[in-house]
Amino acid sequence: MFPKSRLRCIDCGKEYGKDEVLYVCPTCGSLLEVVIEPLKVSLKQMARRPLKVWRYVEFLPVDEGAEIISLNEGGTPLYSCNKLARWAGVGSLYIKYEGANPTGSFKDRGMTLGVTKAKSLGSKAVACASTGNTSASLSAYAARAGLTCYVILPSGKVAMGKLAQAMMHGARVISVKGNFDDALKLVMDVSLKMGIYLLNSVNPWRLEGQKTLAFEVVDQLGHVPEIVAVPMGNCGNISAIWKGFKEFEGSGITEVLPRMYGVQAEGASPVVNMLRRNADRLEPVTNPETVATAIRIGNPVNWPKAVRAIRESRGLFEAVSDEEIVEAQRLIAALEGIGVEPASAASVAGVRKATASGMMDRRSEVVCVCTGHLLKDPEEVIGVCGRPLEVSPDLRAVSELLAPQIRM
Ligand SMILES: *Cc1c(COP(=O)(O)O)cnc(C)c1O
Ligand SMILES: [Zn+2]
Repeated sequence: MFPKSRLRCIDCGKEYGKDEVLYVCPTCGSLLEVVIEPLKVSLKQMARRPLKVWRYVEFLPVDEGAEIISLNEGGTPLYSCNKLARWAGVGSLYIKYEGANPTGSFKDRGMTLGVTKAKSLGSKAVACASTGNTSASLSAYAARAGLTCYVILPSGKVAMGKLAQAMMHGARVISVKGNFDDALKLVMDVSLKMGIYLLNSVNPWRLEGQKTLAFEVVDQLGHVPEIVAVPMGNCGNISAIWKGFKEFEGSGITEVLPRMYGVQAEGASPVVNMLRRNADRLEPVTNPETVATAIRIGNPVNWPKAVRAIRESRGLFEAVSDEEIVEAQRLIAALEGIGVEPASAASVAGVRKATASGMMDRRSEVVCVCTGHLLKDPEEVIGVCGRPLEVSPDLRAVSELLAPQIRM
């Protein structure tokens, strides 16, 4: 039922077995990707199963007989957003709402694969560094699998909702004085030294789960969209989604490919800077800063894969300001009823910016990936929306406040 798989270095091409625990190529130090031999299957055959990550088993590299660790992730709504499309100045705009995943972000798609892999390798403990959602997700899946979970967070920089999840799911949470990039370096070293299975997006098995977002969009839309807009932090997700579209095309299920649109926050935009300069190396941003904490990353490990996705797809790239992110976040919620966290809104903000500058054709059909749920970061919401009005429990006082809106 599952496809055969192996690891391959994206630079030197050297291949490694699927059971080797590697996070970078031992020969040249570059990133690894999973290569699968997809099984013959049609969309129609797969459509007999419920819409979720595991609908697409023919594309998911798991050992026969493995215990699948799942919380029923994926199958998230694809909303058609006409009002937002008008605001963004684009022909049609869809939101793929990843906040509807079990722990409230797309990370769950990756963790169901990653923790299943950890389990079948016989690991007893898993770990990650996190801007928040990776730890929220990993801690839930580790709990479900009965594994010990270690989480390293940059101190004071993680949204309250995400921290709450990791703590309640029983992860051992360690906060380090430093930013995400420092935390990731630390956890990579510690994991190798202590034999703990690392589940950051440098782990290519996680991306195999995340690629199912592309499959679902094809299923839900009935075709391949022209453009897919994705917020970029550590850059695993845009790479995974591109891989998904390519695998569907490669196995003849679809005939075309979308253009990938990578959006970063201005204060944390090393990949956009690199593409603007048409350079071939990334220059890390040393003190990344943005309201969108989930993409507050200055030295994204997966940049070579993201750059490849954008270049191969003749894609687009742009950086948006915190003001643009917050404005988009408010309009997504107020015009369409969809609650997203700031990082998610970067994709929508990016579309408006791209049509305004002429980079994106106004007739385009765009799917915006909205990566996480509004409730993840309540402090940011209070910060931009303020607190509710307060009055005495008195009919007159309350009616006076209501009067301008409601006339009876
Ligand atoms: C993790 C995350 C991102 C960034 O994804 P990358 O794969 O690191 O680029 C964006 N938005 C949210 C809500 C996230 O949790
Ligand atoms: Zn290599």
